[in-house]
Amino acid sequence: MTADPVTSNAAAPGAEYAETASAAYRAALQVIESVEPRIAAATRKELADQRDSLKLIASENYASPAVLLTMGSWFSDKYAEGTIGHRFYAGCQNVDTVESLAAEHARELFGAPYAYVQPHSGIDANLVAFWAILATRVEAPELAALGAKHVNDLSEADWEKLRNKLGNQRLLGMSLDAGGHLTHGFRPNISGKMFHQRSYGTDPNTGFLDYGAVADAAREFKPLIIVAGYSAYPRRVDFAKMREIADEVGATLMVDMAHFAGLVAGKVFTGDEDPVPHAHVTTTTTHKSLRGPRGGMVLAQPEYSDAVDKGCPMVLGGPLSHVMAAKAVALAEARQPAFQAYAQRVADNAQALADGFLKRDAQLVTGGTDNHIVLLDVTSFGLTGRQAESALLDAGIVTNRNSVPADPNGAWYTSGIRLGTPALTTRGFGADDFDRVADLIVDVLSNTEQQGTSKAKYTLADGTAERVHAASAELLAANPLYPRLTL
Ligand code: PLP
Repeated sequence: MTADPVTSNAAAPGAEYAETASAAYRAALQVIESVEPRIAAATRKELADQRDSLKLIASENYASPAVLLTMGSWFSDKYAEGTIGHRFYAGCQNVDTVESLAAEHARELFGAPYAYVQPHSGIDANLVAFWAILATRVEAPELAALGAKHVNDLSEADWEKLRNKLGNQRLLGMSLDAGGHLTHGFRPNISGKMFHQRSYGTDPNTGFLDYGAVADAAREFKPLIIVAGYSAYPRRVDFAKMREIADEVGATLMVDMAHFAGLVAGKVFTGDEDPVPHAHVTTTTTHKSLRGPRGGMVLAQPEYSDAVDKGCPMVLGGPLSHVMAAKAVALAEARQPAFQAYAQRVADNAQALADGFLKRDAQLVTGGTDNHIVLLDVTSFGLTGRQAESALLDAGIVTNRNSVPADPNGAWYTSGIRLGTPALTTRGFGADDFDRVADLIVDVLSNTEQQGTSKAKYTLADGTAERVHAASAELLAANPLYPRLTL
């Protein structure tokens, strides 16, 4: 049996190096302490706080010591703009090794023809993808029509025309209140300023994605890009259907799998639910359900690969080679059978959490989940998302408030709480533990009252925070984080 690399409760690979990792961290903290003791103290405190909190933030996880340790190396000191074997700096042979290995693991793990592992984050990965699609679909044909090879060959007048075209394209993405992400064409993000954006939502009765409505919107709006993927939608997506819609209107299908990449890597989502073979371009983060270092990646079909490769310096600063190295380590972990077992547990645990709420009469958007997210509608408790989030935090339960479809409380106060299972599953939580988590959340919310008409103020009944803290401390102690790591 192979153990989880983080909880490392059984045999390899985590257990093998657990003692060595402990010694490495102790040494590292001593070194930091000798220069800036407050940073060493904050680092120790962060581990203690993470160990002591019931973390249900759907986008967070705990990376293995191997992944974390990989980031603290001299690769941090190297400049390596460009691509593998084609850099703007000398002496990049070891960065080439690291980037090649990370890209190879990504291609093998996801069955992708091409992988670009330089993006520093999910937002950066989406920006690379947007520019790659614009370059392939708009700039390249325009240059060819003008008989030019490079934008620098264009006259001022032709360049102005091309700039206007590049800046006037249409993008169709999932609405924010249905679970889409800011980078899918919304104004607080540059994607909303670059593109004319329209949203598709979910069925108002079921909360499920309505593919007929997506197709209607696509036929009417004729976007250059259709973005699929989400931050807060608790269901699976049929990417084959999304590709059919994109093909019908001549759009490029871009899938942002930032949230659920771990479920794709772990083969929980296969066939029509696996975005990689269906999308022209797939983007992801590496630190959420995929459980790697903070970062992003772009996977692409061959016709987009040249343009994706130009991500740095088009929209990215120099590659973070130390993080690319950690991506390679995390992707190697994700190719192990233990990761598939982990991904399946993430999905099973989300089911257990949803069932735990439903049997206690709580309301869930879409009535349940079939991924790693549960979206709890807290209006039936007479609360806003903001009040629920704060009351839960008082009791030691870390969540985030989130809009629900057609949210009556708007995007700031919201009516929902988004919960995810990747992090606690890494700690070793099972179905019974998640049932208990649902019980504790319902306990807190049933004992919270809105103050007057305020959407922010609330009162938590006496004794609730203490009772729930004690119960969650038991759950956390039974499923320790980095159990063999002693500082
Ligand atoms: N895309 C989706 C779907 C996300 O949920 C997020 C993060 O929350 C991002 C992109 C952005 O990722 P990052 O914070 O790494 O830039």
